Amino acid sequence: MPILRQIAQLGQPVLRTVGATVVDPRDPAVQSLIDDMLVTVADANGVGIAAPQVFESLSLFIVSSHPNPRYPQAPEMEPTAMINPELLWTSDEKERAWEGCLSIPGLRGLVPRHRRIGVRYLSRAGEVREEEYEDFMARVFQHEFDHIRGMVFIDRVESSLDLVTEKEYFRILHGSP
Ligand code: ZN
Repeated sequence: MPILRQIAQLGQPVLRTVGATVVDPRDPAVQSLIDDMLVTVADANGVGIAAPQVFESLSLFIVSSHPNPRYPQAPEMEPTAMINPELLWTSDEKERAWEGCLSIPGLRGLVPRHRRIGVRYLSRAGEVREEEYEDFMARVFQHEFDHIRGMVFIDRVESSLDLVTEKEYFRILHGSP
């Protein structure tokens, strides 16, 4: 049975550590970690979660975009495990949009990201996948890809003035004064 994992909060060294390459995606320990991450990200209403966020320093994350209370505009997709992911190319064009992080509760930031990217990863069955993503999906991938390299979104904001509390973020989003 998959278990809900504790989510590492900013300050935990595991979030600042580069994740090790997964040697064998079919390893039962990797498969059960993926199952745990799937229930953990769903429970937290996240659109993605990286292994270091559940205290496993590995190059692996889940992308599970779907509309939810934290991201009402997110596109719907099957939750997907991405193992040993690589960024193959990035568009010169960047876009700034709001991000939050399960490891940094209560904070949102305006983060510049490449608008389009090409990626390669291994599926949980060990198959090589190559995809192109744009907009929200490209943003989620880049956010999670940072996690497996020991980075978080607050490292990417251009100014501390681009950080706001979640309460103020929802005020901005709904256009109230
Ligand atoms: Zn995050």
